Amino acid sequence: MSRARLLTFGAVVAATVILAVLGYVSLRQWQASAELLFREQSRDMVTMAAEKVEMAILKAEEECLSSLQAILMEPTLRPEALDEWRKKNAIFASLTLVDRQGRVLYPPGASAPALAGEIPEGLWERGGRRHLLVGDQVVLAAVIPGADGPVLAVLGRSVEAVKRDVLAKTLGGLEGPSVLAVLDAQGDLLYTSRPIEQATRVLTVAFGEALPTWRVALYQPPGVSSRGDVRRQAMLFTTAFALLLLVIALGLFATYRLLQRETEMARLKSDFVANVSHDLKTPLSLIRMFGETLELGRVPDEVTRREYYSIITRESERLTRLIDNVLDFSRIEGGGQRYDIGAHPVEPLIHEVLDAFRYPLAQRAFKLDVTVAPDLPEVLMDPEAIKQALANLVDNALKYSTERRRLEVSARQEGTWVVIEVADEGIGIPAAELERIFEKFYRIGRSETQRTRGSGVGLALVKHIVEAHGGRVGVESRPEQGSRFSLSLPIAPISSPLRGEG
Ligand code: ADP
Repeated sequence: MSRARLLTFGAVVAATVILAVLGYVSLRQWQASAELLFREQSRDMVTMAAEKVEMAILKAEEECLSSLQAILMEPTLRPEALDEWRKKNAIFASLTLVDRQGRVLYPPGASAPALAGEIPEGLWERGGRRHLLVGDQVVLAAVIPGADGPVLAVLGRSVEAVKRDVLAKTLGGLEGPSVLAVLDAQGDLLYTSRPIEQATRVLTVAFGEALPTWRVALYQPPGVSSRGDVRRQAMLFTTAFALLLLVIALGLFATYRLLQRETEMARLKSDFVANVSHDLKTPLSLIRMFGETLELGRVPDEVTRREYYSIITRESERLTRLIDNVLDFSRIEGGGQRYDIGAHPVEPLIHEVLDAFRYPLAQRAFKLDVTVAPDLPEVLMDPEAIKQALANLVDNALKYSTERRRLEVSARQEGTWVVIEVADEGIGIPAAELERIFEKFYRIGRSETQRTRGSGVGLALVKHIVEAHGGRVGVESRPEQGSRFSLSLPIAPISSPLRGEG
């Protein structure tokens, strides 16, 4: 392959590689930013959910505390009222009331909780509340104004009630495939908005001060996450890209084959020109040489003179044949070849062709066998064209015979066909080449290594002529054994001389 072609192919390959790299990089970037966006959106959503829960808890506590305050403001503290209160406010599992002096007001007989001593003076003064952590439990400590001074209420939460009254109410209504869950201090699942099943945890967000040890988590079922989406898109992109690469590769291959064929055609054409010029030169120089000798009157006897004349005739016939071949070939290529088809006998035509070869046959001591079946029907043909085809076959048989010089020409009827065969015992044709010898310009081996000269259009012409007659060409050959070419032509319908064009 030439440098220019290599460069072109290299450029296409390089462009493809650049495209592939760019595609890969942008796919990865897109994947990364899609993932980032997805995480941000998820975080926003979970943070919002956490805030909602926190607000709901605070609101519930607020309500509980104000109803508790109402009880504490009563002139006498009635334990039954507090028991009643506890029943109504199930969110708290325990309630202890302590006065500023550290006396337990409720439940009767209970000991003061440890954290009662840690309540800062300020809180006693101003009132208010605080979430405190005792172990991993959140305890609400609130200083509430009572009838006999401020009272410290220590409230322990009921996890079950929180789940039922707060989490289920705030997180339960989530739409879409995502699942929200609440994890406790150990990371165990406390609550899920719906069964988690195969879903995977995407991220967790901490609650605020009201739920310091718990976290909200977002779960995504498989195939729903944006990662799955991205992966699907990436697959699609990769498949499309692979297809694109395949098309480019096929294109490159097709172009390469086309170039190869064109190079081959160019070589065959230049061989053709060289071969034809050589073939024209040989008979011309013979004609000239013998013509000049005769003109100078240097030939003493009549026999030699006759021989020279016949050489001139034979060589000019060869020239005519060659020129006819080339002209007909170019006419066929240009699509302008016409045949004058009619019903004609085959036998006289065979003899005419062989007559033209009488001299070279005799000179090279060829053994000639002609077998024409008696009573052969007439054939639909242009006799000049068929003569040319036959002459090409005979010429080849002569050209491609070396030691064993035997030419066999036969004609017989086979069904509705007349089959004319030309066989030799020459060099033969390798089986692999049998298909190609009928291609234009095709010659076996390269011109430099060939002993015989030829244009490479002879058999292409034979094939074209015979097929234009509605006939078939055939060949059987074995290297070193010889070749047998056959022309099958359709029999003419009885007494209807047709005229037509091929
Ligand atoms: P050419 O002008 O080269 O003879 P043809 O088209 O007549 O061109 O034949 C094509 C090729 O087929 C020849 O170059 C030759 O190699 C091979 N060929 C044709 N006829 C014969 C034959 N009778 N014996 C062996 N080879 C043959």
